[in-house]
Amino acid sequence: MIFRRALFSVLLILPLSLVAFLPWMQGVQAGTLATAPSLAALKGHHILLDPGHGGWDPGFVNRDGVQEKTINLQIALLLAEMLRKNGATVTLTRTSDRSLSTPSHPGFPDAKHEDLAHRARLGKAVGAEVVLSIHQNSFSDPRVHGPQLFLDPQDPAATRLAGLLQERLNAVAMTQRAPIDARRLHMVHDPGLPAVVVETGFLSNPEEAARLRDPNYQRALVQAMVDSLAAYFCGETPSDEKSALPS
Ligand SMILES: [Zn+2]
Repeated sequence: MIFRRALFSVLLILPLSLVAFLPWMQGVQAGTLATAPSLAALKGHHILLDPGHGGWDPGFVNRDGVQEKTINLQIALLLAEMLRKNGATVTLTRTSDRSLSTPSHPGFPDAKHEDLAHRARLGKAVGAEVVLSIHQNSFSDPRVHGPQLFLDPQDPAATRLAGLLQERLNAVAMTQRAPIDARRLHMVHDPGLPAVVVETGFLSNPEEAARLRDPNYQRALVQAMVDSLAAYFCGETPSDEKSALPS
């Protein structure tokens, strides 16, 4: 759940069309057409995965009561499993429904700040090479949908990683988004590490919320992220210029 002024620019470029109503399976098929990097490139690399929110902090809760923290954790655990199968080392900021703040200080704003500060220091502390923070998005217009990457464009490595992720996730969701400049966002700053926030979809869109809870769709998103990380460690650059440049 991220609030930002830049969302207006997203709305300007979003083709709010019938695409929203196409079966997601078409997106998966389109995704398989993208160049598949060698997954062997993942071997020996260390990735920090951060399932956003948790515990007292549910993140966004949609009108059907679906909590962002639950989807974030499901996707992150699946991603960790797939990365480890390919020889990567994965550290997770949480593996259960819990916050990273002190239990004695639940609630906003101090506990939230403490929770985020813990997450933003962990990557460097465990020796990770990249940080992926997994979230679900929300917006007042329920038609808005699709994966969205957030990064600090002053970091060339984060920019390349975000572009690779955005174009593969676009292929899964049949969207044409570009990464967004979110340099003021806490989680794009794990000092010294390329860190990106991956909002895998909008829980405020009823159709997309249903897809995001579907294990098959989660697997398609995860495969796109695994391929993107392999491409990143191969030194690849985004093939789609729109995906490479933050808006
Ligand atoms: Zn969130």
